Amino acid sequence: MLHALKTLAGGLTNDLVERFLDIPQAHREPTRRIEFLPNYLCFPVRTPTKPPATHTNCYLIFSSSEILVIDPGSPYEDEQQALAKCADDLIAEGRIVREIILTHAHPDHVAGVDALNDHLATAKGARVPVTAHRLTADSLGNQLSVDRCIEDGEVLELKGEPEIKLRAMFTPGHARGHLCFYDERTGALISGDNIVGFGSVLIDPADGNMRDYLDSLERMRALPNLSVLFGGHGPAVANPYEKIDEYISHRRQREELILAAVRDGASSPKEIVARAYVDVAPKAHAMAERAVLAHLEKLEADGSVSRTADGIFLATAETPSPFGRGLG
Ligand SMILES: [Zn+2]
Repeated sequence: MLHALKTLAGGLTNDLVERFLDIPQAHREPTRRIEFLPNYLCFPVRTPTKPPATHTNCYLIFSSSEILVIDPGSPYEDEQQALAKCADDLIAEGRIVREIILTHAHPDHVAGVDALNDHLATAKGARVPVTAHRLTADSLGNQLSVDRCIEDGEVLELKGEPEIKLRAMFTPGHARGHLCFYDERTGALISGDNIVGFGSVLIDPADGNMRDYLDSLERMRALPNLSVLFGGHGPAVANPYEKIDEYISHRRQREELILAAVRDGASSPKEIVARAYVDVAPKAHAMAERAVLAHLEKLEADGSVSRTADGIFLATAETPSPFGRGLG
């Protein structure tokens, strides 16, 4: 914990997690456990995720008697063992793991579920239920079975002390079955990959949907009393409203540039990236084209652009506000 504070005191820079992990103890327990907020333990596990991130944050939220594990995402055995040890330490203090919860179906968030469950089953004789939104269960198919579906608005209340109630929020956009979890008492929001501590969030159609994503950001923005965001990657975000505003305005600016490029004659994601993503390195262009496609689909749904049968995008003559859907 002290190391976490010292690392944070060094500034919320892009290398924060690297600095955090840059002590020998960080790679062994118990100092790897980051408890930014009492009863919210962040345990970053190494994953093959999208650069610049190298880890996915697994969260263990616990009361005196129960534990919820969110997103055990590492496919690597050493990382899975380290996480299992972390869970064992909490269990040894008299708790049980109640559920393993998935924010969404992407591999870097789910790859460690079976390993953790096998470990818990060996110790306890029974597997722990895996829970997620039903669209996440759909996306996972045979890859991983979800035992129970969580709907928007469900409140997960932990037995024991202190009082911990997490309200599930269906927040699609980055992934179609994405869930966030809001703790009204502390103002903490498990934001999954909708808001991350560093790097940017890729909206990749059709699993990703820009209209849904902006709606989800607005819903998160409308929560009262937000104090901290615990994202799927990078450090905790201590200025939630500013961060969400920054995300929304970044997307609006991109959308304006993209619409301007279409009006100017660019008709494919490739041409648009060449014009509107001048600040993006060429090696990232393929990914940028996916993001542009997500914006184009939103503009099409808004009525600002149309798509021909050949997949060519054109600006519509009568262009309504590009931010038609409650984004003023
Ligand atoms: Zn993701």
